[in-house]
Amino acid sequence: MSNLNNLNNSNPCLFCKILHQEIPAEIVYEDEHVIAFKDIHPKAPVHLLVIPKTHIASLLDLSQTHLDLMGKLTLALPKIAQKMGLSQGFKIQINTGIGGGQEVFHLHYHLMGKAS
Ligand code: AMP
Ligand code: ZN
Repeated sequence: MSNLNNLNNSNPCLFCKILHQEIPAEIVYEDEHVIAFKDIHPKAPVHLLVIPKTHIASLLDLSQTHLDLMGKLTLALPKIAQKMGLSQGFKIQINTGIGGGQEVFHLHYHLMGKAS
């Protein structure tokens, strides 16, 4: 589960720590660029956080260099939803910046729904 972009022991980012298994989380999906794990305080029967393995603080920090990665991250969403049994659909939320209620500054999609 390593990623060369994030191999920095002094990185204080909570989600990078989850990515590197330095703190526990229930990871439900992983591919080359993305992981998804269960939110510790779920607001829906299925509530996942879907993150790029590359550390990007928020949508405000995106640049052209992230186009391919953001495409891969977005394409992972329906795959993860299907894996979790969200066959009727799902909600995506991206809190962005202090004003957007973002608490963890590693870009993440909240993926929420109910299995059916
Ligand atoms: P946001 O407000 O968009 O930054 O959301 C951060 C989310 O991370 C919140 O929904 C928290 O419940 C969740 N969270 C915080 N710490 C953990 C953790 N250790 N494992 C899983 N989810 C977490
Ligand atoms: Zn990070």
